[in-house]
Amino acid sequence: MYIEKFDPEIAQTIENEKKRQMDGLELIPSENYVSKAVMEAVGSVFTNKYSEGVPHKRYYGGNEFVDTMEDIAVARAKQLFSAEHVNVQPYSGSPANFAVYYALLELGDKVLGMNLSMGGHLTHGHPLNFSGRFYKIIPYGVDKETELIDYDEVRKLALQEKPKMLLAGFSAYPRALDFKAFKEIADEVGAFTFADIAHIAGLCAAGVHENPVPLFDVVSTTTHKTLRGPRGAMIMCKEKFAKQIDKAVFPGLQGGPHDHVNAAKAVAFKEALQPEFKIYARQIIKNAKAMAEELMGLGYKLVSNGTDNHLMLVDVWKMGITGKEAEIALDESGIYCNKNMIPYDTRQPLDPSGIRLGTPAITSRGMKESEMKQIANWVDKVLKNKNDAQIKKKVREEVKAMCQNFIIY
Ligand SMILES: *Cc1c(COP(=O)(O)O)cnc(C)c1O
Repeated sequence: MYIEKFDPEIAQTIENEKKRQMDGLELIPSENYVSKAVMEAVGSVFTNKYSEGVPHKRYYGGNEFVDTMEDIAVARAKQLFSAEHVNVQPYSGSPANFAVYYALLELGDKVLGMNLSMGGHLTHGHPLNFSGRFYKIIPYGVDKETELIDYDEVRKLALQEKPKMLLAGFSAYPRALDFKAFKEIADEVGAFTFADIAHIAGLCAAGVHENPVPLFDVVSTTTHKTLRGPRGAMIMCKEKFAKQIDKAVFPGLQGGPHDHVNAAKAVAFKEALQPEFKIYARQIIKNAKAMAEELMGLGYKLVSNGTDNHLMLVDVWKMGITGKEAEIALDESGIYCNKNMIPYDTRQPLDPSGIRLGTPAITSRGMKESEMKQIANWVDKVLKNKNDAQIKKKVREEVKAMCQNFIIY
């Protein structure tokens, strides 16, 4: 490879990272393994091109093949989600969300969005994020007892505050969203409906979670989580918002699109249109349920007592270990997850009470329910022996041995 010759230092980091990804268990619910076809597109000559504008209306010459590629990407995304209009140019989930706010709102407008500490995303109104600084955010959360979104409470807030936009979406909520309930609430107060399906897009595309695209005004998603495409995003919307959304992406917030990434999005959309992808999405959920059951059987408290989707939140603090300690001990055992706030957390974001676990990546490797049970038991063993280097080393070896039966690259 050229990179090994010219830049052995960086080549080594890539090789090491590949080994880490192969030998460990990736339980971070926002991560996945893309296909080699997707990676080839990301590493293609499209990285050399400038193509500001939209297909067939560009500010640079030489875009005939970029236009064909982007037309195909858009057509496939429309088919996948039954969308009226799609813009595949957003660089990532956060810029895509910024474009939606920019397109639909004026500075200072009110937005009803899910609190980060209850499962929302930074771009849903965190005070340190553009969303919290430029807009007036009314946060909603989950019920203290059930740990589920209380739609009556969301409705009450909406009637009180009359937001201009209602945002449905999450990064850490283990249950299905009721998009119809959100839509009814928004209609009652005349708010725009915006769904951020970054985490669940693959599940929505496969029909194993309700798809909000036909129902909502605007829907954003990343392409690299359950959708299993390259790092990037897209915005889907009703035809009547098409011009506003396109103008917000360019020239509102972005310059030249990343054509190499957009080509890879097109490849990933084609993969997601195959019948095998439905089987994959179904297995993600079966695996999450199997892991959740096993953990609860081992005595762990899961937020909302289980999961309907690809992720779960485990309250490790109830077992006397902090989220940060749990993340580190698991890391040392070749099991990757992230510390996470749980609803009504009494601890701080940098060392919260929970960890977040998910099954999209390990399901891509072909793992099934029996492996989930094994993984839950490893997690339990590590957490109960977080300071025992011997045990962590042994688990790491066992993890590696199992991973060798599920080769991905
Ligand atoms: C991951 C995520 C994003 C942001 O995506 P980036 O590509 O990391 O910017 C936005 N919204 C939600 C709900 C997410 O989970």
